[in-house]
Amino acid sequence: MPNKLIVSLRQVQDSLSGGIVLDYPQRCSRCDAVPAAHYESHKLRLRIGRKRPGLYRQTYEVNEPYRLKIRVCQSCYRADFTTNIEVLENDDTPEGRFARNCRWAYRVGGVVAGAGMLLMTNFIHPDSNFGWLKANWPFVVGAGGIIIITTWLLQRQRMSRVQDELVDAGINLEQRQRAEVRSAVLENTNDPESGVLEIGLHNDNWAAECAAHYNYTLEDYLPHQRTGDE
Ligand SMILES: [Zn+2]
Repeated sequence: MPNKLIVSLRQVQDSLSGGIVLDYPQRCSRCDAVPAAHYESHKLRLRIGRKRPGLYRQTYEVNEPYRLKIRVCQSCYRADFTTNIEVLENDDTPEGRFARNCRWAYRVGGVVAGAGMLLMTNFIHPDSNFGWLKANWPFVVGAGGIIIITTWLLQRQRMSRVQDELVDAGINLEQRQRAEVRSAVLENTNDPESGVLEIGLHNDNWAAECAAHYNYTLEDYLPHQRTGDE
């Protein structure tokens, strides 16, 4: 049965600035491969003390971002590239740089298309500095759309190429799943040993060795039985 690691409030608070890095054991947390010099990343928030619901969204007394990183091999890391490219955006790897470039291109495309829409409206007066561009708004919107579509096509192409390479290497992507992570909301900070972060791993031995090394609690775990938010 898969295992989950339970990380206490105290352990999360101690690691807020540098993030929680599951570095040990030094083999892949999914497939046991060596070397395993990559990391899967999770962006999380430590949330304590719900305030009364705000007008737009729930707010908390404490709402601190932190990062969880788990050791993986290059193949498992590249498996994430084919399924969750956006989770690599902060990584200093070729895949991470590509993911960042895509995000940047989408933003530029969106801004250009949005500017074209604005030209169409009465916010931009024909006599203003942008008046000469006003009549050409469909081309500006179209340029933004082309940037977005081209980026999407390039991204798909690169993702499917990596997927083909992994499949050709005999890797079953279904068996290289990311950890299932849940960051609970605590009511208060009274109990520093209360579990706040759950990390569901599919590799029992790796999870057990990791828990022993970092002094995390280990529990049985049924995958895909998530009830909270990540
Ligand atoms: Zn691996």
